Amino acid sequence: MFLKRMEMKGFKSFADPLHIEIEPGITVVVGPNGSGKSNIADGIRWVLGEQSAKSLRGSKMADVIFAGSDERRRVNMAEVTLVLDNESGFLPLSYTEISLTRRLYRSGESEYLLNRQPCRRKDIIDVMMDSGLGREAYSIIGQGQVEQVLSSKPEDRRVIFEEAAGVVKYQSRKRESERK
Ligand code: ATP
Ligand code: MG
Repeated sequence: MFLKRMEMKGFKSFADPLHIEIEPGITVVVGPNGSGKSNIADGIRWVLGEQSAKSLRGSKMADVIFAGSDERRRVNMAEVTLVLDNESGFLPLSYTEISLTRRLYRSGESEYLLNRQPCRRKDIIDVMMDSGLGREAYSIIGQGQVEQVLSSKPEDRRVIFEEAAGVVKYQSRKRESERK
């Protein structure tokens, strides 16, 4: 499984539709300060269900919507899509290509889509859980986060290993059934 395409529209600094094609292997994004490199990583986190505006470096969720610039008016919707290659069947869905989309309107309305069909946030989280790309996974290490991992409490650090070992899914299902 690998991320083969990313599409963004109206997300943070990306006002115009942007398609990024990604080959298997290592991809490096380079550019001057403030050019939007971290915004790409924020876009990935966001589609995977991030609910903390602060983690996305904003103060409220609407801060992910393009706010306008000297040359361009602000827009009313942010949309990000990740297209994953699932030829290997790694993700638990019988599709060889899986697309995940999240949209947010200024009105506050939000949408998630799985293969272009409306779904719940939970459906996206379930698909990605234990894939190593989950929202809580340390597959996305933000600027300054390395230090945080090194200084965290042993209990907090254990979560990283549990996610890597693929047991988080079972813990979360156990918690869910205990609540019922
Ligand atoms: P560095 O090398 O300093 O880490 P970077 O390439 O990671 O830089 P980002 O942090 O991704 O840069 O981009 C920051 C830019 O994105 C800023 O110029 C900021 O104004 C712009 N930006 C963030 N949110 C929005 C928004 N909602 N609307 C318009 N521009 C935005
Ligand atoms: Mg950055």
